[in-house]
Amino acid sequence: MSRELGKFLYLLGPATMTHPFSPLTMEQKKELSSNAQHIVEKGKGILAADESVGTMGNRLKKINVENTEENRRFFRDILFSVYPSICENIGGVIFFHETLYQKSKTGKLFPELIKEKGIVVGIKVDKGTVPLAGTDGETTTQGLDGLAERCAQYKKEGADFAKWRCVLKISDATPSTLAIQENANVLARYASICQQNGLVPIVEPEILPDGDHDLQRCQYVTEKVLAAVYKALNDHHVYLEGTLLKPNMVTPGQACSKRYTPEEIGIATVTALRRTVPAAVPGICFLSGGQSEEEASLNLNAINQCLLPKPWKLTFSYGRALQASALSAWYGKPENVKASQEAFVKRAKINSLASKGEYMASGVTDSAAAQSLFTASYAY
Ligand code: 13P
Repeated sequence: MSRELGKFLYLLGPATMTHPFSPLTMEQKKELSSNAQHIVEKGKGILAADESVGTMGNRLKKINVENTEENRRFFRDILFSVYPSICENIGGVIFFHETLYQKSKTGKLFPELIKEKGIVVGIKVDKGTVPLAGTDGETTTQGLDGLAERCAQYKKEGADFAKWRCVLKISDATPSTLAIQENANVLARYASICQQNGLVPIVEPEILPDGDHDLQRCQYVTEKVLAAVYKALNDHHVYLEGTLLKPNMVTPGQACSKRYTPEEIGIATVTALRRTVPAAVPGICFLSGGQSEEEASLNLNAINQCLLPKPWKLTFSYGRALQASALSAWYGKPENVKASQEAFVKRAKINSLASKGEYMASGVTDSAAAQSLFTASYAY
């Protein structure tokens, strides 16, 4: 062992024993942090394919496809059975419970198919939002009951990371202090339970794009929300090196009359993150939040081109912005499977370049990629 490394390990020792009831062993920490880093390796992001049955139904309705278990399986099979080199662009796939137990047309279970490609399997573990009584339509997210048992089971089924989505909204009166505190706390409880069961928690405090607020207001609220989230994660002894953050980008409200460039969005986003997210967090994987596919790629690219120092990987964990072109290319027809896969691979490659700040838009965007994917008060 080199003297330098020895000195480093010596320093690391006391630093890892910051409180007397260490919640994780060194082995557990090692596994969590290596999985988290693997998911966000250079050029990789996440495919969020964990839409609930209802949300998937809305997507399928747009292409006149019935919301049956077979049709949901069929579309996911299109995405999951693309050629193995997709692992250069996708480091993790988030599953919905149903999908974890479904098989590809070859008879292989989906988690096996994904893992064979060297991609990490994730699972959505929250049970959706519920109203916070006495607030202006704000919510918290439920699903803590039985979570430890579910996480342990999912780990056995092959999952190595998890997702839990909390939702906050911007208006003159929101987010309230109650909503900020409650959602930060439930995210921290979830993260702690995941880590105890060997799953890397993706912490997702999504601030909705609904509203006519400007970029500055979104930045202010994003900073308040993230500061509360990291205080709660610290209070709950969550091991940050074994977590990933999934935030909204800092963007103006969907109904804001002022337009901002990707560069302005990039600076506002990186500034908010630098002020609130510890450098120990390995990766920040943005949700697309109703942006068109192309917008989500251009903004991610601008975030990565921003000159401010960035101690974390800044990449994508897109649902809508990775699937919209693929869905419309498929249109429920078996003969379109190849075209649908090509559309998916194209977006994955573009976002991979954007995660390195290397995407150069050609100027010609196909119509599906330019379409807004915004849905008011988006539920997942
Ligand atoms: P969008 O990228 O469609 O916003 O969703 C990602 C996600 O996983 C939300 O929880």
